[in-house]
Amino acid sequence: MAYPHRHLLGIAPLTRVDIAGLLDAAQAMVDGHVPAGLAGRIQIDAFFENSTRTLMSFALAGKKLGLHVLDFGVARSSVAKGETLADTARTLAALGADVIVMRHGAPGAAEEVAQAVGHTSGRGGCAVVNAGDGVNEHPTQALIDAFVLRRRFGTLDGLTVAICGDIRHSRVARSNMLLLTRMGAHVRVTGPTGLLPPGAIPEGVSIVPDLEDAISGVDAVMMLRVQHERMAERLHLSANDYHARYGLNSARLALAARHAVVMHPGPVNRDVEIAGTLADDPACSVILEQVAMGVPVRMACLAAVLG
Ligand code: ASP
Repeated sequence: MAYPHRHLLGIAPLTRVDIAGLLDAAQAMVDGHVPAGLAGRIQIDAFFENSTRTLMSFALAGKKLGLHVLDFGVARSSVAKGETLADTARTLAALGADVIVMRHGAPGAAEEVAQAVGHTSGRGGCAVVNAGDGVNEHPTQALIDAFVLRRRFGTLDGLTVAICGDIRHSRVARSNMLLLTRMGAHVRVTGPTGLLPPGAIPEGVSIVPDLEDAISGVDAVMMLRVQHERMAERLHLSANDYHARYGLNSARLALAARHAVVMHPGPVNRDVEIAGTLADDPACSVILEQVAMGVPVRMACLAAVLG
């Protein structure tokens, strides 16, 4: 594929063609067409925030492409001695990183690192892939979600997807709103009033305050956990009350289309935003497929920026 960008910092700069190209490349990975020629390139994973799925699947993706995958242990690094993010990134690039996969708590951190490594030399310079920057974007998660939906429905065009829960603090919601609408899907967002998006939302997204109205007739229901770590004030709702008012259960799911799939980027808080039995139900849940498809989608993303 011809990916026209140096980095993958967000969905915002991507066109429909870019997105379709990345999804097609991920399908090629699933079909076993792994590009030759990337072997020996260096991938450094720099995760300043916790991660299970994203960190592991980027590491596996890199290994399957034949890259040397190194984990930059933030806790043991000189970040604790006061080194700035930009200087840390320049150091990794000067050591020969071909790609830095970065997760950070600050919105815009991936962009800052991309700017910093833009000045470093090396074999073609160093690319940056955003693995989540605060409340801003999580582009590879949105690409995975789109890939899973496309596998199931053949296209994203014309689908209706409900994204439910803490929309305000979710980079997954933000990247999904951008990607799904760009690809012709309709998006409804719903959640507790204080957790709805405060500012402008992309065209094609509607805010539907009532959860049951939002779910009604949709092709996919994407549940999100409450991002307590990003909230200035505590949410005054017990887990039980949250589940009763805003959680997905089978009675609510029955309002969606019969063929509707249940999605969640993880980590799942069982019986809070989603009934544990629904998350485990293979008849509707594609949560583990989202995990599994993380590897080919991230292989496609790494190959694109290294290509
Ligand atoms: N794993 C996703 C993220 O890093 C979703 C979440 O943490 O709730 O944004």
